[in-house]
Amino acid sequence: MGEPFIRVENLEFSYDDEENPIPALRNVSVDIASGEYVAVIGRNGSGKSTFAKLLNLILEPTGGHIYINGKDIADENMTDEDVFAIRRDIGMVFQNPDNQLVATIVEDDVAFGPENLGIPSAEIRKRVDEALATVGMSEFAKHEPARLSGGQKQRVAIAGIVAMLPKCIIFDESTAMLDPVGRANVVDMMEKLNREQGITVITITHYMNEAVRADRVIVFNDGEIVADGKPAEVYANSELIQRAGLDLPQCASLVEGLKAYGISVDGDCTTPEKCADAILRAIGGSRGK
Ligand code: ADP
Ligand code: MG
Repeated sequence: MGEPFIRVENLEFSYDDEENPIPALRNVSVDIASGEYVAVIGRNGSGKSTFAKLLNLILEPTGGHIYINGKDIADENMTDEDVFAIRRDIGMVFQNPDNQLVATIVEDDVAFGPENLGIPSAEIRKRVDEALATVGMSEFAKHEPARLSGGQKQRVAIAGIVAMLPKCIIFDESTAMLDPVGRANVVDMMEKLNREQGITVITITHYMNEAVRADRVIVFNDGEIVADGKPAEVYANSELIQRAGLDLPQCASLVEGLKAYGISVDGDCTTPEKCADAILRAIGGSRGK
């Protein structure tokens, strides 16, 4: 089926801090296929944001290669249009919703990206309406972003990216500043964009309960990828998760606790439902009505 959407080979990156390079990524190799829903986790300073910025061409690799749609982004033959196309194809949503909104009316904010792409105004109108509907913010089209809740602002920021029709959206801790309701809405949005529109979603998060909703979890530690697999596989290795400075998802942590009582629970324990089934199997019980 040809090359993956994103191929990263032996990627290295150091921040050049006054002759004192700070290594941020070491020998990172990973493929991400079109349409995947990937969570990237790792303690603070493990290199997650650096990785995201390299994929979005905000930073340039100091070693190794990144291929987007088979094209080496470091190739001297890359034209400005090629760079522009990659930045449009790979959108980024950041942590602080306040830093991402530029206009004083919601719909103008969503139109800002497509306007910069030089898209005709009738088409922009259509895209803005569709993007606001997608994120469930149509009724706020004429509102002031400043008066919205954090979660609503973040959904407007997502609409602004969606209106550019990206192939991939990277969420860099986009739920970190939100209350639980705002967070749940934004995670639902990621899932919907992935499942219904086929957008490749890469979500960087320190909420393990969010990471388990992805199809794949990639763990960074100290600038390296230390695990990469389905959530159930990755979290089954509780020792590795702890060594990477991370918490287990609540359910997986409960299963670890049960082990101390001699109750050995096997199988996927990443969600409450799966965990309940696995515990029932382990103790030979059955689910009541
Ligand atoms: P994460 O997003 O996982 O918290 P980062 O990618 O932001 O990690 O950081 C990786 C490493 O690079 C850390 O050691 C961090 O201190 C360093 N770093 C990040 N940004 C800069 C910068 N602008 N200048 C110098 N060092 C940086
Ligand atoms: Mg970060």
